[in-house]
Amino acid sequence: MSDKPKIATVWLGGCSGCHMSLLDLDEGLLDLAKAATITASPITDIKEPPEVDVCLVEGAVCNTDNLEVLRKCRERAKILVAFGDCACFGNIPAMRNFISLEETLQRGYVDTESTASGEVPRGEELPALLEKVQPISYYVKVDASLPGCPPSAEAILFAVKELLSGRLPKPEGELLRYD
Ligand code: SF4
Repeated sequence: MSDKPKIATVWLGGCSGCHMSLLDLDEGLLDLAKAATITASPITDIKEPPEVDVCLVEGAVCNTDNLEVLRKCRERAKILVAFGDCACFGNIPAMRNFISLEETLQRGYVDTESTASGEVPRGEELPALLEKVQPISYYVKVDASLPGCPPSAEAILFAVKELLSGRLPKPEGELLRYD
């Protein structure tokens, strides 16, 4: 059995751009695979996070499912990384915090012409939206942050390698990117 460190990635409320940036590593993913076992990836992203050494969490906490997954990530990861600006600060998903949740739903599902039914979807099978969107550090301890929207592939590779070497990543300014 491999004794390489284990890495997982998890996707909460975001646009998946951070995961796409991770895929931009191209051959760098092979380097990463030599240094660590990727137990959950952008391709195999799952909602039951495994026990890992490093967990990259993309996205903000928008609903009850996000919060449950985040808490499991925290329990099961030695190092938890806020991956991208949504996880670090709330960013785009948190723009709805300027108005009430009910008004957000009204605008999104009833007042907007593109909605199919003109009704706010409700049901026990749907995760409940939280009143406010929060960055992940609002709920759990975060060990490292990798800002960017999305972080560049180079910054991701740098950060993960540093973490696997037992260092906190401090990327130089040119590695931080805002598209
Ligand atoms: Fe998307 Fe930017 Fe949020 Fe990443 S930080 S999930 S790229 S909006």
